[in-house]
Amino acid sequence: MNTNYDVIVIGGGPAGLAAACEAYDKGAKKVLVIERDKELGGILNQCIHNGFGLHYFKEELTGPEYAGRFVELVKQTAIEVKLDTMVVEITQDHIVRCISAKEGYQELTAGAVVLCMGCRERTRGAIAIPGDRPAGVFTAGAAQRYVNMEGYMVGKRVVILGSGDIGLIMARRMTLEGAKVLACVELCPYSNGLTRNIVQCLNDYDIPLYLSHTITNIIGKERVEKVIINKVDENRRPIPGTEIEFDCDTVLLSVGLIPENELTRNAQIVMDRRTNGAVVYENMETSAPGIFASGNVVHVHDLVDFVTAESKRAGAAAAKYALGHKAGGPVTEVKTGSCVNYTVPQHIRRENVEKGVDVFFRVNNVYQDMVIKVTSGDTQLCAFKREHMAPGEMEKITIPKVLLDKASDEITVSVEHQ
Ligand SMILES: Cc1cc2nc3c(=O)[nH]c(=O)nc-3n(C[C@H](O)[C@H](O)[C@H](O)COP(=O)(O)OP(=O)(O)OC[C@H]3O[C@@H](n4cnc5c(N)ncnc54)[C@H](O)[C@@H]3O)c2cc1C
Repeated sequence: MNTNYDVIVIGGGPAGLAAACEAYDKGAKKVLVIERDKELGGILNQCIHNGFGLHYFKEELTGPEYAGRFVELVKQTAIEVKLDTMVVEITQDHIVRCISAKEGYQELTAGAVVLCMGCRERTRGAIAIPGDRPAGVFTAGAAQRYVNMEGYMVGKRVVILGSGDIGLIMARRMTLEGAKVLACVELCPYSNGLTRNIVQCLNDYDIPLYLSHTITNIIGKERVEKVIINKVDENRRPIPGTEIEFDCDTVLLSVGLIPENELTRNAQIVMDRRTNGAVVYENMETSAPGIFASGNVVHVHDLVDFVTAESKRAGAAAAKYALGHKAGGPVTEVKTGSCVNYTVPQHIRRENVEKGVDVFFRVNNVYQDMVIKVTSGDTQLCAFKREHMAPGEMEKITIPKVLLDKASDEITVSVEHQ
């Protein structure tokens, strides 16, 4: 059996599928997608609500429909797929070790590798909620899988902690399935979800959103019986005397996602502690030459369309690398200025940019009437106005090549009041 591939893609979610299709289109002949689940599609398979693909397909699709389009594209190619197969190790010299019940342990090699492992949810243990340990506490994504894919209803009276998109989507989903969602509780003074999800998933169903509140106690012997929430001060500490009690049987946690980077860290690839993903160049190449990364494994996305665009870039670059064209040249470092939490990419090789480079970032608070500035030393390269910015909404700017060429070895992205 030939175990040598041009490009191996790890993860068969939207990132992996787009990367594989693009690598194939750009001339990589032997492309393999390895997916640990029994089917392709990743997290989209359980996201049966609509709202996917508005940017990329200019249509409103459900998650499975969006994934299905890419699965069909894969079927029209000679891309190989290994399902039920878990990658357990990758090395800097592109050896991929994986294991499956059907084929056992395998060691594969590739000209280039694309990491598309997505992310997982933060659990109750990770945020240390006090109280009893009864049944009825789920991560929102786990509940989504039970309800949408396995056909189990997880509870009747629900409190949701966290107002990120998954929490909001599940508030609506549980309501539509007949549950009473009593509250969505958010630690921050603002929601971490998309505005459209606040409107369509909470406001439309009269579900109250408690900003600057957190769960301070979960009570229940066998099953959750009560939840206590408190208002928090500016240091996010519960304020005594502000308790509100909810009689409920279920708590859903939507308290953040963690990129799945165990393989990346073990391969000694340089990580960004702000994104919890690999540090990447403009073409999504990591610090290990020929190993690329895209999608939620690099930074958590709210829109799958951006995952697709980023992953096509990674796939094209992986094909190019495998066919012998290595990117190089002087590097411009992208620094974060005021109000900016992180950027992706963190490094740009100017010679490798054709028309312009897309830079993604998130701000650290909610702002109105702002201007995004890209500067190099004392020179302002470009500026972009924004009426509204929030940490829950990823920002994207494109820096044109002609302006980038005027930059030194460092540019700064900052956000200021207009
Ligand atoms: C609940 C929820 C609601 C969302 N709603 C919207 C929405 O309305 N609109 C929108 O545009 N976007 C939405 N998104 C965001 C979008 O769906 C994600 O950003 C996108 O799915 C990320 O794609 P990915 O391929 O990076 O990750 P994933 O979809 O998570 O895929 C990663 C894949 O890698 C596999 N994998 C991981 N490790 C290994 C390994 N070691 N070996 C083999 N395989 C491995 C996993 O099994 C998985 O299939 C939502 C996301 C969630 C979670």
